[in-house]
Amino acid sequence: MTQTSSNLQVKILQLRANFIKQLPKRLLEVEECIKQAENSTNYDELIMGDLFRAFHSLKGASSSFGFDKLAEEAAIGEHLAQGLITTSAVMNANRSRVLADVIEQLNLEMEELKQVDLSFDRPYRSPSFEMGQINRGWQEQGAPLIYICDDETEQVVHLDYQLSCFGYRIQRFTDVESFEATVLKQAPDAVVMDVHFPQSSIAGTETLRRVNETLGRQLPAIVLSGQDSFAGRLSAFRAGCRSYFTKPARPLELAAALDDLLKNKHVEPLRILIVDDEPEVAQYHSLILEDAGMLVQQVHEPALALDVLRNFSPDLILIDVYMPECTGQELAGIIRMVPEYLGMPIVYLSSETDRKKQFSAMQVGVEGFITKPVVPSELVSAVALRAERMRTLRRLMTRDSLTGLFNHSSTKEIIESAVSQVGRTKENLIMVMLDLDYFKKVNDKHGHLAGDQVLVALSRVLKHRLRNTDVIGRYGGEEFAILLRKISIEQAYELIDTLREDFSKIIFSSGAEQFTCTFSAGLSSFAHYGSVEELIGAADVALYQAKKDGRNRVNVDRKSQ
Ligand code: GH3
Ligand code: MG
Ligand code: MG
Repeated sequence: MTQTSSNLQVKILQLRANFIKQLPKRLLEVEECIKQAENSTNYDELIMGDLFRAFHSLKGASSSFGFDKLAEEAAIGEHLAQGLITTSAVMNANRSRVLADVIEQLNLEMEELKQVDLSFDRPYRSPSFEMGQINRGWQEQGAPLIYICDDETEQVVHLDYQLSCFGYRIQRFTDVESFEATVLKQAPDAVVMDVHFPQSSIAGTETLRRVNETLGRQLPAIVLSGQDSFAGRLSAFRAGCRSYFTKPARPLELAAALDDLLKNKHVEPLRILIVDDEPEVAQYHSLILEDAGMLVQQVHEPALALDVLRNFSPDLILIDVYMPECTGQELAGIIRMVPEYLGMPIVYLSSETDRKKQFSAMQVGVEGFITKPVVPSELVSAVALRAERMRTLRRLMTRDSLTGLFNHSSTKEIIESAVSQVGRTKENLIMVMLDLDYFKKVNDKHGHLAGDQVLVALSRVLKHRLRNTDVIGRYGGEEFAILLRKISIEQAYELIDTLREDFSKIIFSSGAEQFTCTFSAGLSSFAHYGSVEELIGAADVALYQAKKDGRNRVNVDRKSQ
């Protein structure tokens, strides 16, 4: 079992203990609802609704925490309360007799509920988490650590130099022995491994295989080889590598392969919003999803959902069906009224098992219905599947297909919303407009494909070196717009100027020819401008000045200095 899963179990057991502690109070509340129903001479619908919900949520929570007998009794109460609602809706001469009858049964049911011996209930089965480990966030771990092991020092130094420009942390080794010793002390995020080491009898691929065996997992690895042989590829495959390069490896292609290899680590965790009036049940589902690497936010009052939705921007919303203020169906309907959220996946999470009611709740256009108590792995996979699909759709709409950065319109939108959000706080924002120098010449001289290679490399540098909270967009053909957060103008200048220098060192190749490329940038500070237009305009002017001053430089707008 993983560390996280055992932590999860402890937390779930705490929730369960809490539920037991709260149970007497809960039962009193149900009893109070019954009394009110009994005294309700005009068959108040609200009171009947409260009574139904009290039993319903007791059923849901008990089953989630593994109290089957309690859930069963609560289900009987729920059914009776449902009968009351139906009765009060019908004008019927016998109504008061029927009501009295049901109330009597409900009171008997209450006695049953109080008698349930919780210690005799099904022992709590710990959920199994085969699904775990997806999409764990990587921000806190910083830049990926790459070990390069190759006996040809010159090549290693070159690769180190080039890959560092993209923001990887590189550690070099020229022999398999020191590589192995270090890996066992600190495992890297990925390995670039040579096959032949003349001074050693052990091949690089053999070392990899051994290290994987000792670690008990596959280290993501790329194999470099002096020759393109079948035997070499086979030994690489057997060592668990799915990527093979013949020397000299092009750093750009290697960086792309490393990105592919580390893709899962770079993916931001899926964001899930849970709306449930019961904090404990919401917490239980939240723990399950968090253990699978998702980022979860809970809302216990439906009225707050829209606000949280705006700030948290989830990939999927899980909504409880029965809530006191408004039903899940109503909330889903309200969310769908907002044009932005028309495509937002909404899934109900409820102990409602009546197919007819489920169907009617789905009418407002929600994606699915998951019934409580959930099987943790099923909850995780149902949520992951739908949320991933949302991510993909959103990506297609908002990203540029060549670089994967935000496209022009979404860059503007995101910058505008970031600016309006910090408007009230004192956080500073720095706008950067960045443009490749003499890019037309690159295309003319080396071809459009070589030009594309430069655009991709620059976006990779930006993505790796800037923070996740910074906004990076491809604003035009070879123009990029960046919004840096929580940074001073001096720090921003240092940062962009370092990127400029590093980028200018990347060696591109087109056929036999090699070339380098530079960019110029203009910076402006939000502290000196009132609107997004002014902010972008000022950065643009500063960029134009940088071009005029000779290019390959960073220039700060005069007012922002
Ligand atoms: P300056 O230093 O003044 O910015 O000169 P420049 O040549 O970079 O600027 P100019 O605006 O004259 O040319 C921009 C070029 O960028 C022209 C266009 O063909 C190229 N470009 C725009 N989008 C793409 C793209 O997606 N791929 C490639 N390969 N080239 C592109
Ligand atoms: Mg509820
Ligand atoms: Mg240009």
